[in-house]
Amino acid sequence: MFRNDAGRLVVSGFPDGDSARTDKGSEALVVDSPFEAERRREEEAAIKSVFPDYRSAEYASYLRIVDSANPMHRLWSDTPWLKYSLAHGCYWKKCSFCDTELEYVADFARSSIPALLAAAEKARAIHGLGGIHFVDEAMPMAALLEFAAANRRTSKPFSFWGNVRFDSSWTQGRCEFLSACGLTAVSGGIEIATERGLAMTDKGFDLPSLVETLVAMKRAGLLVHTYLIYGFPGQTEKDILESAEFCRQLFASGLVDSAFWHRFVLTRHSRMHREWKDGKRPELKPIDKPWTFANNDLSFEGYARFDRYDERLAASLAAWMDGRDLDVPLFPSPPDYVETLISQAEERLDSKAPNPDARLFWIAGAPIVEAGGPVEAPVKIRWAYRGELESLVLPAADAARVVALFNDEAFRFSGIPMSEFVKKTGLGGRKIKTLLSSGLVAT
Ligand code: SF4
Repeated sequence: MFRNDAGRLVVSGFPDGDSARTDKGSEALVVDSPFEAERRREEEAAIKSVFPDYRSAEYASYLRIVDSANPMHRLWSDTPWLKYSLAHGCYWKKCSFCDTELEYVADFARSSIPALLAAAEKARAIHGLGGIHFVDEAMPMAALLEFAAANRRTSKPFSFWGNVRFDSSWTQGRCEFLSACGLTAVSGGIEIATERGLAMTDKGFDLPSLVETLVAMKRAGLLVHTYLIYGFPGQTEKDILESAEFCRQLFASGLVDSAFWHRFVLTRHSRMHREWKDGKRPELKPIDKPWTFANNDLSFEGYARFDRYDERLAASLAAWMDGRDLDVPLFPSPPDYVETLISQAEERLDSKAPNPDARLFWIAGAPIVEAGGPVEAPVKIRWAYRGELESLVLPAADAARVVALFNDEAFRFSGIPMSEFVKKTGLGGRKIKTLLSSGLVAT
């Protein structure tokens, strides 16, 4: 099924004589009817509230395959997950190679988080599975934060992971909050790790901001998998090797844990193909195939030029995921390029003021006031965060207010806006900054 040039939904591929065929030929059944709006409303309602219940799944029959020692790589196959989506479609829907003209990407609609959580609780009661794999095209941050906060409020939170875009919505505070709420890992496309490649694919981020996002994720302890593409029309050998070298440096610096090289496939429903049809990509020479069923993938002139990279890229990647050859450059670009970007990213992350509209949560241990000293003297409050003992000296009255707030369940589980936090604690910018690096998070 696809949208034709007139913007109508049609199905194709019915053989001669099939009752679905009309005099319109093989593009036979026009679905775009007066009922389309109704169908769309029903679909959105279903996306919001209907989830698989897994009642007849037999998880005990699944093989648990341990095919790699790489902890991120193992997530796919060595344990079963409950699979759900926070949304249908992709909120970005701009990558030039992606099926952005098909509904599964183009039609973005969010699920209902309470309904999703209720479905997951039911499935857990049947199967005892406490992990969710979100199979979204890319988990939207607002839905993810809502799920995470709701999950945190339950008596037995799920652990969860899923597909993401490495975009600027992944701030340091959100990464820490999501990690504290059960997020363990993310997988997302870098595709071509060069500035030219990111522009060609229209990923919507550049290399410095990509590294900043990865640093924020890694500081929060998340495992990271990434998808890579080679064989993009017009891609040069320099661009492929430069991209591979950037990835080697990402592995060497610990910013990614696993990755996969995809050979580029031109699809009929991508923006690239649409632009070619509109005469905007004369350099692209698609080669159509002679079948009509599921006719999505196309070849293009020059495809075979990339055959020689198949084994080489796969072999080097397998070595990096195993922790081997991490110090063997693939291309003569600056060997410390990623490390330089990491230093710059750390500086930016450490100096960034939180968004004044952010919601603040306390994700560290319950703080205590250190006893002793005269009543009016400053006191030290102490708490544990990520295995470290943290402390802050405050006037006694401020300390009492802060400890009361941080021990308040409503605040811990639902958070409060920044302005309310300032009003309730009376703390100034420097003190808040100290707390923001040790258990207070802005989402
Ligand atoms: S590749 Fe992923 S992020 Fe890009 S438009 Fe497609 S689904 Fe969205």
